[in-house]
Amino acid sequence: MSKPLEDAFIDELRDTYDAEKQLVKALPKLAKGATSEELRDAFESHLEETRGQVTRLEQVFAALGEKVRGKHCDGIAGIIEEGASILEEDFDEPTMDACLIAAGQRAEHYEMAAYGTLVAWAKALGRDEAAELLEQTLEEEKAADKKLSGLAEGGINDEAANSQIDNAQIDGERPQPRATARGRTTSTTRRAPARSRR
Ligand code: FE
Ligand code: ZN
Ligand code: FE
Repeated sequence: MSKPLEDAFIDELRDTYDAEKQLVKALPKLAKGATSEELRDAFESHLEETRGQVTRLEQVFAALGEKVRGKHCDGIAGIIEEGASILEEDFDEPTMDACLIAAGQRAEHYEMAAYGTLVAWAKALGRDEAAELLEQTLEEEKAADKKLSGLAEGGINDEAANSQIDNAQIDGERPQPRATARGRTTSTTRRAPARSRR
């Protein structure tokens, strides 16, 4: 017997609920891998937002009279796995930041696709309260994505690109690294120190 859109909608909600819970576990790792303070703050504040999105999805289930239940999301699991393998790479610090942004934006776009569909289906099914809640999260995901673009294009990409050029030009004479507030060193003019494995 064929199932209606309502069933697909609930399935998709369960998938997305699981995806958000996976992201609650993954975002602290991205934050920890970031060198730029602004980037770390962006991941940490989106972590807080993501916790709120988990709660909001529980409200959606309640509004629909459905039991709160997740169903493993393979898509976000793959995206998170790719992010984890980036952290294993030996990139210099600005390049690592650029790569973490790339990983984060893959997750945000995946979520934007999921919530875009969920909002449209909730509306089509006349589930107005659910639609409104889902729309709030969609807007947060879009804002998180924009924020990451802003950080990438507002300096991190250029820093990463220049660090490559500077590294290529290094020939014995290395400028002394300047200490940063966090006790790390800036690395735009030299090769970054080996990253600790985590
Ligand atoms: Fe989310
Ligand atoms: Zn999924
Ligand atoms: Fe998100």
